[in-house]
Amino acid sequence: MCVHTCTNVFVIAYMLFCNTQDLQTILNILYILNELLTVGGGRRVGVFVSKGGTGILLQLVLSGSKESPPSEELMLQLHSLLAKVGPKDRKFGVKARLNGALNVTVNLLKQNLQNHKLLLPCLQVLRVYSSNSVNAVSLGKNGVLELMFKIIGPYSKKNTSLLKVSLDTLGALLKSKTNARRAVDRAHVPVLLYIYQDWHRNDTRHRHMLIRKGVLGCLKNITNIKLGRKAFIDADGMRILYNTSTVSTVTKLPKTQSCLCPRVWLPVDDVVDESDDNDDVETENDTENEEEDKDHHNDDIETDINKLRPKETNSRPFEELKIYERFFLELSEDFQVMQDRHPFVSLVESSTSKNQINIVTFHFKTSDSPIHCRQSKIYYLKYIYIYSTSQKFGHTYSFQDHDGCCDHSQVRPQPGQPPLLAGGVAARQGGGAEETLAEEWAEEEGGEGAVLEVPDTALLLPLHDPDLYVEMVKSTRSVPQYSEVAYPDYFGHVAPTFREHILERVYGVQRTKIFQDIERLIHPNDILDKVVYDLDIQSCPVIDDGESLKFNSQFESGNLRKAIQARKFEYDLVLNSDINSNHYHQWFYFEVSGMRVGAPYRFNIINCEKSNSQFNYGMQVLMYSVQEAISGRPRWVRTGTDICYYKNHFSRSSIAAGGQKGKSYYTMTFSMTFNHKDDVCYFAYHYPYTYSTLKMHLQKLEALRTPQIYMRQDILCETLGGNSCPLLTITAMPESTSNDQICQFRNRPLVFLSSRVHPGETNASWVMKGTLEFLMGSSPLAHSLREAYIFKIVPMLNPDGVVNGNHRCSLSGEDLNRQWQSPSPELHPTIYHTKSLLQYLAAIQRAPLVFCDYHGHSRKKNVFMYGCSLKETVWQTNISATSCELHEDLGYRTLPKILSQTAPAFSMASCSFVVERSKEATARVVVWREIGVQRSYTMESTLCGCDQGKYKGLQIGTRELEEMGAQFCVALLRLKRLTSPLELRNHAHLLDVESDLIETRCKVSRSDTCTHRGYYSKQELTLEIYTETIIFECETN
Ligand SMILES: [Zn+2]
Repeated sequence: MCVHTCTNVFVIAYMLFCNTQDLQTILNILYILNELLTVGGGRRVGVFVSKGGTGILLQLVLSGSKESPPSEELMLQLHSLLAKVGPKDRKFGVKARLNGALNVTVNLLKQNLQNHKLLLPCLQVLRVYSSNSVNAVSLGKNGVLELMFKIIGPYSKKNTSLLKVSLDTLGALLKSKTNARRAVDRAHVPVLLYIYQDWHRNDTRHRHMLIRKGVLGCLKNITNIKLGRKAFIDADGMRILYNTSTVSTVTKLPKTQSCLCPRVWLPVDDVVDESDDNDDVETENDTENEEEDKDHHNDDIETDINKLRPKETNSRPFEELKIYERFFLELSEDFQVMQDRHPFVSLVESSTSKNQINIVTFHFKTSDSPIHCRQSKIYYLKYIYIYSTSQKFGHTYSFQDHDGCCDHSQVRPQPGQPPLLAGGVAARQGGGAEETLAEEWAEEEGGEGAVLEVPDTALLLPLHDPDLYVEMVKSTRSVPQYSEVAYPDYFGHVAPTFREHILERVYGVQRTKIFQDIERLIHPNDILDKVVYDLDIQSCPVIDDGESLKFNSQFESGNLRKAIQARKFEYDLVLNSDINSNHYHQWFYFEVSGMRVGAPYRFNIINCEKSNSQFNYGMQVLMYSVQEAISGRPRWVRTGTDICYYKNHFSRSSIAAGGQKGKSYYTMTFSMTFNHKDDVCYFAYHYPYTYSTLKMHLQKLEALRTPQIYMRQDILCETLGGNSCPLLTITAMPESTSNDQICQFRNRPLVFLSSRVHPGETNASWVMKGTLEFLMGSSPLAHSLREAYIFKIVPMLNPDGVVNGNHRCSLSGEDLNRQWQSPSPELHPTIYHTKSLLQYLAAIQRAPLVFCDYHGHSRKKNVFMYGCSLKETVWQTNISATSCELHEDLGYRTLPKILSQTAPAFSMASCSFVVERSKEATARVVVWREIGVQRSYTMESTLCGCDQGKYKGLQIGTRELEEMGAQFCVALLRLKRLTSPLELRNHAHLLDVESDLIETRCKVSRSDTCTHRGYYSKQELTLEIYTETIIFECETN
């Protein structure tokens, strides 16, 4: 029978119900309905619900209950039908309550506990009632918890389906904190544990795992409240569950066990909020959970059409912007004295005088409470130590400052340790006093003076120079006054030539890890709980008893706050939050030494915050071995096994969770064995790229300048932390000083690039390195590109965040990429001045052709772009505006389209051009809306790897990231050819195709609300061919 016929039957049924009081007639109709809905599948039930069938059935329940005694057969039929209809009706819970059906079902249950035929459908209906939070509270008050405990019981082969439904109902009821408390008060926790054990003992063939799962579900909901956790522990719950979870069954059990652990605070003291401790306060309100089931996907899309239109030019007077003219010398350059001009300003030379002790006190008011920096003084570095605690190749690199003062204690972060390490090694380079000092130390320590072999990477890494790096470190200012340099930054990184595959997900790793965590509570005596590294203690303990690993993170971009040895080879690590904030833990970079070769180490980073991570989808951590480096393999490699990411039992205080209570932290765990004795290894979230590295690269790039290249380095501004924010200008020198040439030079369109506003997204810096190297290159393509555009580049928008090992913020504790709407010159100087540059360009009618801010993405694979399109945003919303009539040029799609054709890591499928509300203060949206740059993008690079294209199945490395940066340049050249007036004429018909395509998409997505990419039109295929033609033409030009 088709749905249409069904509908007719339903209508007839409805009319009959209305007009008959005859029980037998009603029963007959119910039999037919039951038949229809049983064989018809979900579709018929859906039709029945949409025709108002639920309401009729509920009314029949109520009217039937008024007969005395009520007809058992009627109730049986009605409840069987409701059991089918209920799960399909989102408002079932509310309807049942309003119709007064709740009590009818409950009373029926109470009176028919032995009548299994009637019991099952009633329980099934009750299960649906209970999923509504308001119903759950009311049912609890009516004694339904106790009723359920009359049905569930010890192991029995009979009536397992009744038992299962009762457990599900009980589980749903216990989601209410009132009910959970009631269950604790009536001592139901030990009962549930007993039932669990009994089923475990008797159900030896695991035929009824769902029943055990049901019991665990009930326990889990009870332990959501503090009282419940206490009752659970008091009833020896941890041990019972542990003992019943043998290795053979652990993989079969649900992951609920981890939730049953008692919640504790992180082992650091500033994230505890005692007010959070009382989580048993009833917070239930009348929000009907079925009404919350909206489409969250569209929640964030901007629906205010006025916010999608260009902002009326802000009344910033040109007089105020005029000072930025000095950053655009090329726009007025006449090259009349070409020979003498050296458009390069050295960053180092222009930085403030070297021996100055610069005391900066940070004391901002962000919201309502004053927040202080971790430390308030910044000293100029007098010594830079490159050291390791390893006996074998400890290495010190020292500098004496000009007044000869050398007070080690002032700059050395670890008092009590000799400045030169045992078995000291003479520095490779350096002259005069420095060398003598190093030698003296070496003698004092009785070392043999073995010279540390620095890998020779000059050929492979043209932009890297260890000496220059150390030179750069001297002018880098960090809040903790770092005085050490990490080996990887000093030696450099040569990308490995082998492929690094995305790890296969191994089944059951997560369960095994959680199981090991639970074992800590069962066997507390096995736990060492030995703090081996703690930045919070002034004299950070350095335990050197040969039993523990040694940790360090006190170097640029380092981030590790505390390390606790949990078991012999297992360490819990706590990351530092961003300065002036109490969250954003994700970026890590630390050193480990004192390892045993071949031992199975496990590391747990226990204060991660995001709810999921690419570590669950094949991403590995990065490791750099100093032993490998001095053996000629200086490189970061992907490493770690048994990697997984899961919710742990550490509570997040509401202050550390944006005001939300009851949030937890997550653990990222990985295991590994070390291959070398006396090694010093570094671990990082992603390939580090420090601010000092940037400065070194810029110096080396400057050296690549030829007479054909115009390159200028300016200091855009100083940061809060006293670091300079570099601004680069790169273009081609004019071929001559003729008027025509100068005119062409000045009138080149501008391309504005920026990156690393988020310090933890180091991949953005590697992409930027690729771009810069390409731009300074000698290839004909690079030359054409320089002739085509003037590049303005801010390669690091957040130097302070990078230096201090932040993940997301600047020193003010704010996400700088949320400040573009109204940046403060004091708190967000880099953003304020970058925006001013763009405002200046807009004011002189020279707004850039392309703006792109490079980022990294932690949850997605591949490289992709976010752009801004008024139309595409409107289509995603329900705005009834006649969106197709909105005028919009389609050029914003061209650059990503070209990239998807040329850059192997780039994926057009992941691009989005929708403007989100939460992004309205980002660079991309503000530059689009306020500066009027149509091609304004965020380019996101994965931290993990690719799932399409040439690199499918591989993790991303610096080689691929740098290649991406270079491909971006090539794409710009193609864009130039497409946007030049001549080409436009030639391809006018093809652009029409693109326009057709967009129009089609518009219509399709308006009529069809399915996903953004659910269709692929003929025109889109035409566009593919079109782009390919253009690219082919470009290549053969
Ligand atoms: Zn970002």
